[in-house]
Order: sequence, then C-alpha cells, then structure tokens
Amino acid sequence: MKNEILKMLKEKNDFISEGEIAKEFHMTRSAILKYINILKEESYDIDFMQNKGYKLISVPDKLTFEEIEKYLNTKYIGRKIYYYETIDSTNNKAKELNKEEEGTLIIAEEQNSGKGRLGRQWISPKRKGIWMSLLLKPKVDPLKVSKITLVGAAAIHKAFENMGIKSHIKWPNDIIINNKKVCGILTEMNCELNLINYVVLGIGINVNFDKEDIPSDLLDKATSLKIELDKEISRQNLLGNILNEFELLYEDFLEYNAEKTISICKENSILIGKDVQIIRGNNIKIGKAIDMNIEGELIVQYENGDLENIYSGEVSIRGLYGYI
Ligand code: ADP
Repeated sequence: MKNEILKMLKEKNDFISEGEIAKEFHMTRSAILKYINILKEESYDIDFMQNKGYKLISVPDKLTFEEIEKYLNTKYIGRKIYYYETIDSTNNKAKELNKEEEGTLIIAEEQNSGKGRLGRQWISPKRKGIWMSLLLKPKVDPLKVSKITLVGAAAIHKAFENMGIKSHIKWPNDIIINNKKVCGILTEMNCELNLINYVVLGIGINVNFDKEDIPSDLLDKATSLKIELDKEISRQNLLGNILNEFELLYEDFLEYNAEKTISICKENSILIGKDVQIIRGNNIKIGKAIDMNIEGELIVQYENGDLENIYSGEVSIRGLYGYI
C-alpha cells in the first residue's frame, strides 16, 4: 500500500488531499499517516499542509524498483529487485536466491565483502556506486558463459555512451576511463555437465566516489565517473540504462551468438593493438593483443610470431608498465 500511495503522490506532483487518498484506497487518515511516516523514514521528503494535504517534495537517491521503474523498458531484466541497504556481497545473495526467475536483480547500497576475480576484494562504499548482481538462466552450452561477462561490459559501455560518457573495455571484465578502472564485472556459474543451472553476473560501478573514497594503493588504477567528469551522475538513470541495454544484448547473445557484443567490445577495446603482460599465477608472458574472435577470446601474438587465443577467466592482463 505504501508504494501505491507513493505512486499517487508522484503522479499528482502537487498537493493531494487526505480525503482523495482515503477514498482511493479505502483507508482512514491514521492509516495514511502511518504509510506517510514509513515513506519519510525511507528518506522521501513529503510536505503536509492542513487544508491541502500531502505533497512529494523529493525522492531519495536509492536504487529501489520504485525509483528506477521510470527509466526501465525491459521485459524481464530488473523487473524484480531485491534491495538491501547493506549486504556482504550481492553475488552471494544472488546465489542464495537462485530459484528466482531469470532477470531478478540483487542490489545493495553498500557491500561489506564485495569480491573481484580470484577472491580479490572489491571496495563498495555506501550510495557511491552501483553494486548489483543479475540472476540469469541461459539455455546455452556452459562453455559460452564467459561471453556473458562481455555482454555486461558492452551494455555498460553503451549505457555510458547514452549518457555522454566515453569509456573503453578492458577485456574481459573491466570498463576503463582515462586509463583507470571505473567498473568491474564478476561472473559466476553453477552448472552440470552440459546444463547451466544459473549464472550470476556481478557488476560494480564507481559512480559518485570522491578521491578520498579510493584507498591510496588503488589510486593509480581506480577512478569514478564523478572524478573523471567532475559532476555527480544519477545512479538511477544509469542503472535503468544499463538494464535496458543489457536485455537487448543478452537477447542477441542467446539468438545470434553475441555478434553485437563482440563488435562493441572489439571497437572499444583498450587492449587491442597494445603490448600486454599475460599473467597466469606466477607465469608472466609478454605479447601483443591483436584481435578478439567471434567466441570472445583475446588473440595474442608473441615475439616469435606464435598466436594464442586466450579464454577469459584463466588470466589477468596488464600493460607493460602498469594497469593498462
Ligand atoms: P583485475 O582487474 O586486477 O584483474 P579483478 O577484476 O579481480 O582484478 O578486480 C579486483 C581488483 O580490483 C582488486 O584487487 C583491487 O586491486 C581493484 N579494486 C577493488 N575495488 C575496486 C573498485 N571499487 N574500483 C576499481 N578497482 C577496484
């Protein structure tokens, strides 16, 4: 009921009398007040005037379904959202909720133990980023799942572009602005021999971080949209954009083997054409990233001319002298 009252206040966009609300929802004035107070506790700013009623003044900067719905035009991606103020990791919660339908989104304002690849830590301060995980159930060969990371990267790149933000994709799982990481993706899968039970696509985007929010040891490789653009970005608008772009590219992945994603990742790659270090545990090789194939593998050429197709997940790629 709280959400219905909120919707009515939003639609009216002006004062609305208690009588009108009471009539619409067949409730008493004290019941209305109870829901208004809940909304206020959730940081909705609602004005009250004795003879005019209630008016919604402002909505909180939260990534709830009610606040992103107006930006969404998806069929099933993000249509059901589990929203948390604080959580250990959205990927862990998505795994717990694996019986939910495809497209369910887990979102938190803050993660206590956000994860990167290989168990590395991912910092996720409160309300400064988008920390989320999508539950997916693609009916494809489990070998194709690493491509979903690229679908996520391409969707974020496109969403940034829609909002006038230029970025590059660092194969296979990071988005880069001015040579620093603004977003990371962590895909996890649960499958049997040739059947996928579910995939969790975890995405972390540094949106409104200030420099002080970044630990000093990460300053040379991490940044945020706010730092690079020198202005705050609407997380709600950005999230809606990402989910819309993701659904289109995910459908293309299911039907056409992700042709659109591969071309976005190729055209906007920060690695292709560069000399890179290919790191497998303690083993480091140097080669040149020359292309990406239709399977989404990075093609590297070594000094002796040998070519290698690198399957994501098994390696870390670095520039010769730093992160890129
Ligand atoms: P990499 O990109 O180094 O291969 P991952 O994709 O696993 O590694 O991401 C985890 C790493 O990213 C961490 O070890 C840390 O160096 C860095 N990191 C952690 N939190 C953030 C963040 N919010 N933004 C950018 N980089 C981060």
